[in-house]
Amino acid sequence: MSRIAYVNGRFVPKAEAFVHIEDRGYQFADAVYEVWALFGGKLADAEGHFVRLERSLSELKIAMPMSRTALTHVLRETVRRNRIQEGLVYLQVSRGVATRDHAFPAEGVRPSIVITVSRVDRAASEARAAKGVSVVTTPENRWGRCDIKTVGLLPNALAKQKARESGAVEAWFVDELGLVTEGASSNAWIVDQDGVLRTRDTNANILRGVTRNSLIEVIREAGLKVEERPFTPDEARQAKEAFITGAGTLVLPVVAVDGKPVGEGVPGPIAARLRRLYIERAKAKAI
Ligand code: PLP
Repeated sequence: MSRIAYVNGRFVPKAEAFVHIEDRGYQFADAVYEVWALFGGKLADAEGHFVRLERSLSELKIAMPMSRTALTHVLRETVRRNRIQEGLVYLQVSRGVATRDHAFPAEGVRPSIVITVSRVDRAASEARAAKGVSVVTTPENRWGRCDIKTVGLLPNALAKQKARESGAVEAWFVDELGLVTEGASSNAWIVDQDGVLRTRDTNANILRGVTRNSLIEVIREAGLKVEERPFTPDEARQAKEAFITGAGTLVLPVVAVDGKPVGEGVPGPIAARLRRLYIERAKAKAI
């Protein structure tokens, strides 16, 4: 449980942490967010998440609310005050508070910042990874700028609920060509029949996952072949392995798609190895 939140310059007990009803994040989903995995109290893939945050803000013409150095300090201080070592750090930056009007408010409105920290049970995550998870597919129905990490996540929330009601952990969006774009909160991968690691290219309307990018480096360093090339749900079922990546899931094996097994229906050695290599690297580089 996160006890302390950072809200617009103050550390406050979570129960007393509020934003204004006319915050544009609340009114229009006019806000972006980032999530860092925490290993030993340190931020994993810090640089990648900062770069994406700056890009998301810039695409929406919201000013970076403070320097990267200052933000790093505030993120760390929020982690420290919550005494959490293994977990997730959530940061949200909205355009700020203004009388409701679709167009941007006049100059001078300051972005709102919220930071919270939650604990992750690493033993439970490892147990889940050892067992693998199921995914369901759902038609792609999101807007055309999924590369910006906005809080406009209603289609993702509905997809995740569909997954949960089907006993699955994730939903994979499938576009009009029948190709998987990504998960509701993760990127989607397979190890195809030729042993090639495949994930959707970033020309498609997907989030450029920071874990995805780091894992591409890990795969290359491990001497394995990786291609940014789409796949269908059928190809995933016929693949040797499938998995998802994200700050929350790290590298998590997928053993069934729409109730049908992927390969043998059990986690495979490549995803297990990549999970281990990714975690080792993320821990070593965490700040
Ligand atoms: N795709 C979507 C839609 C997501 O929401 C997320 C994470 O929240 C990801 C992919 C994975 O991104 P990252 O690896 O940066 O956590």
